[in-house]
Amino acid sequence: MAFEPIRKQRQPGIPCNLADYDQAVRDFSWGKARAELDGLPGGRGLNICHEAVDRHAAGPRASRPALRCVARDGAVTEFSYASLRSQTSRFANLLRALRTGKGDRVFSLLGRVPELYVAALGTLKNASVFSPLFPAFGPEPIRERLSLGDGKVLVTSPQLYERKIAPIRDSLPGLEHVLVTGGPPDAKTTGLAEAMAGCGEDFEIPPTDPQDMALLHFTSGTTGRPKGAVHVHEAVVAHHATAAAALDLRPDDVFWCTADPGWVTGTSYGIIAPLAHGLTLMTDAADFEARRWYRMLAEHRVTVWYTAPTAIRMLMRYGPELPASCDLSALRFIASVGEPLNPEAVVWGERALGLPIHDNWWQTETGAIMISNFASMEIRPGSMGRPLPGVTAGLLARGADGRARVTDGKVTEITEPGAEGELALRPGWPSMFRGYLHDDERYAEAFGGGWYLTGDVARRDCDGYYWFVARADDVIKSAGHLVGPFEVESVLLEHPAVAEAGVIGTPDPVAGELVKAFVSVTPGYEASGELRLELIAFGRRRLGAVAPKEIEFDQHLPHTQSGKVMRRVLKARELGLPTADLSTMREAR
Ligand code: ATP
Ligand code: MG
Repeated sequence: MAFEPIRKQRQPGIPCNLADYDQAVRDFSWGKARAELDGLPGGRGLNICHEAVDRHAAGPRASRPALRCVARDGAVTEFSYASLRSQTSRFANLLRALRTGKGDRVFSLLGRVPELYVAALGTLKNASVFSPLFPAFGPEPIRERLSLGDGKVLVTSPQLYERKIAPIRDSLPGLEHVLVTGGPPDAKTTGLAEAMAGCGEDFEIPPTDPQDMALLHFTSGTTGRPKGAVHVHEAVVAHHATAAAALDLRPDDVFWCTADPGWVTGTSYGIIAPLAHGLTLMTDAADFEARRWYRMLAEHRVTVWYTAPTAIRMLMRYGPELPASCDLSALRFIASVGEPLNPEAVVWGERALGLPIHDNWWQTETGAIMISNFASMEIRPGSMGRPLPGVTAGLLARGADGRARVTDGKVTEITEPGAEGELALRPGWPSMFRGYLHDDERYAEAFGGGWYLTGDVARRDCDGYYWFVARADDVIKSAGHLVGPFEVESVLLEHPAVAEAGVIGTPDPVAGELVKAFVSVTPGYEASGELRLELIAFGRRRLGAVAPKEIEFDQHLPHTQSGKVMRRVLKARELGLPTADLSTMREAR
């Protein structure tokens, strides 16, 4: 089945932020995008927290709900912009009292509780550096990141402290303060609430250079050991501009980003961008649960929803009855990021939710959305869309190692429609990472011939839409064909028995590599020999020569904590090799 382009019905009277792509690209400049923000009073620079909180708190939006945090039990804690300003100022004053200042690293290890958001924004307000840790990490990955990132302050809960920090505390001499959200469990910790209560609600943001370090984000670790990407305060210009263009965010929206702030999406778009637009940001402390998620969307009248392919595929498994029984009439726009979004999921959105899913592409390193399907533009299911205004993307010819070939500092750009190359971006957008912490060599290697080299392989069609092929490391070379796992996975996912798929190449003396698929089956289907044969035949009909020759059922495909299928783990297991860094792998459920 070929997937037809999805043309949008324009909603009468509600023009999209980006109504005409070509014109938006022509008219755009980062200078104009910067002018949409206020900057610190008195020309003292640009600070993320001022743009996200204080400037709204000082104006007519002061009493508007800024942050609505839903706890696991459904209880709601709401902050207006004014109260968020007071709370973040208290936190910033607390940091100051702890002699923690500009450039010092403040880590969080928290669930999605209000204190996480206050700590993140209060840290930025103080011009310190915020680094969020995903709370499901075990003690060793936490120790590694705190140590690599020179953590001086950590904000955590008593439970997480006892389970994960107490055993490693002595090995972290640089960690001076541990602030805990409940009663302090021991003398080495400080109660956050009490300490904040002793601090004032007024705080003057120190002068902040747009190039001052603001955020330290560790990558997902899909391809190996996670890297610490450094971002600066100027990134807020890109967060704000891209959220307007790619997510169509407006000041009256209720926005829900399901990503955890432990990952870049959950900070760039789960904290900063929506607040910079002065809207109401929803957060949910609970993990994925289909019924709960539909209830969240309906009860909180969410208008724009940003989620991930794995979540969408899990919702698809539950069928269309559940969304049909909920009032999703407030929803205006749905977007997804993190992994390739198979065309069937895009179309499913339109059928089951009444809206197609808009895929977009970016990385921890890019700090903000770089390629996107836009509200006003036709969607080509399976495509990541087109570069954001202000972003120049290109495809570069690759060498034998699969990466862009850089010879004497020169690269070859591929312009032929449909040809594959390494996806590259022209440096210069404000949220570009400024380094991999303590790894200058690796940072330097990420650039070549005047481009930032993303490590992903893509194609571009004749209308400028980009199509993800694979991570350069994942491309399979089989009998003279270059096979992107995503293409094979997308086809398998169209079969009703397939809930999820991970595709790798296995060595073969004749073909070089053979395509092998690991498949988890949808509830109600049996992982039988018969189904295996059926899927092989299904693949062959649809994919011809690049169809998987072998299919193995696995109900527990390895995922990163951020929800991506870890093909390198499937491959290492297949070959009986060590699986290398597993710190970001999610426990099998
Ligand atoms: P690591 O760099 O540690 O291996 P990671 O690359 O998964 O981990 P992230 O920065 O979280 O860490 O993810 C960015 C990558 O995710 C992209 O380079 C791309 O491979 C994949 N990705 C993100 N969005 C999309 C998308 N819309 N379509 C296809 N792939 C995507
Ligand atoms: Mg990466």
